[in-house]
Amino acid sequence: MTALNSTEQSVLDQIEQAPMLDRTMAWAKINSGTKNLQGLAAMAQQLGDAFSALPGEVELVQPDPVETMEPDGTIQQLNRGRHLVTTVRPGAPVQLLFTGHMDTVFPAESDFQELHWREDNILNGPGVADMKGGIAVMLHALMAVESSAAKDRIGYQIMINSDEEVGSGSSAALIARLAQGKTAALTYEPALPDGTLAGARGGSGNYSIKIGGRNAHAGRNPRDGRNAIVAAADLALRLKALMRDGLSVNPAKIDGGGANNVVPDHAILRINFRPEHPRDQQEAEEALERACAAIALEHEVTVQPHGGFGRPPKPLSEGAEKLFGLVKRSGADLGLDIGWRATGGVCDGNNIADCGIPVVDTMGVRGDAIHSADEILIVDSLAERARLSALTVLRLAEGAL
Ligand SMILES: [Zn+2]
Repeated sequence: MTALNSTEQSVLDQIEQAPMLDRTMAWAKINSGTKNLQGLAAMAQQLGDAFSALPGEVELVQPDPVETMEPDGTIQQLNRGRHLVTTVRPGAPVQLLFTGHMDTVFPAESDFQELHWREDNILNGPGVADMKGGIAVMLHALMAVESSAAKDRIGYQIMINSDEEVGSGSSAALIARLAQGKTAALTYEPALPDGTLAGARGGSGNYSIKIGGRNAHAGRNPRDGRNAIVAAADLALRLKALMRDGLSVNPAKIDGGGANNVVPDHAILRINFRPEHPRDQQEAEEALERACAAIALEHEVTVQPHGGFGRPPKPLSEGAEKLFGLVKRSGADLGLDIGWRATGGVCDGNNIADCGIPVVDTMGVRGDAIHSADEILIVDSLAERARLSALTVLRLAEGAL
């Protein structure tokens, strides 16, 4: 522990667990499923009040429009909540980005709304780890940093979006704007129960591909028809055949068709791609374009892909390696052994990395079983991870990157 200087020690001494736990519990009691706009508004209000403790400007930003393709092929607008952005000292020499999300995967009608203590140190509840506990960690780490004169060297923006759990369609452009000019970014997704961080992440792309054929009577003139379901199935098989190491392809659903005696004139293929590396994404995009053109030609149908790679792959850049190294050294000085490993999951860290900004995206609490009713927060990780963040930020302020 002698590795800490007196400034660092006095900042770390500011961090107390009890207020972080109180906040986490209060926030977890507010249902903020991505589609629960009322709950998200209530959550944004609470977060706005809490983040007003920082010496910056807090604002709510309108969500960008997001579209979805209905089973009949029409395009619908989706409603999303507003995003919270806090800006502190925009003129300081070192500029950082902090991100989190206020939404959870648990809808308003979910059975999982209550908090339960499993053991003294284990709290079960919706969003306690993913990521209301993480937001508390972020806030209290920054409040501690603000108690020190070192704060004047850094400025930062904090973005807490309302739609991370559904791919950040209404906040991706905001994230990209905020990432510009930043030295580094920290995102507060939960770490694994043993504290291991997520390193490289693959990407994810979702498409709804609309196929238009021609109706005909299945008995009287079937050859006059152009079967959209068969074309969609053929396309699914061709795209599935792209699957290899580094690229997983999952045709997930085909909507469309109608009565048994009608050649179906419409179908929608829903498909997910998981590229490991940007070159895998590029190959998938090119192959998709070729396959759609081939299907259109051979089946005499129209083929319109809708969607894209909302989460680009996040290989570990040189800058990211340095940032991980800094977090690891900071952890070591706190008696923590910090490791990281690649994961198949995706988050806003993918989008930040795609802007060329070094990011560690699992600076939140240690937790487990997220996205299930068994989600837990390991409570003493609140103070542990807030100390880790505060120390990392102080060292970024000193120019550690
Ligand atoms: Zn999350």
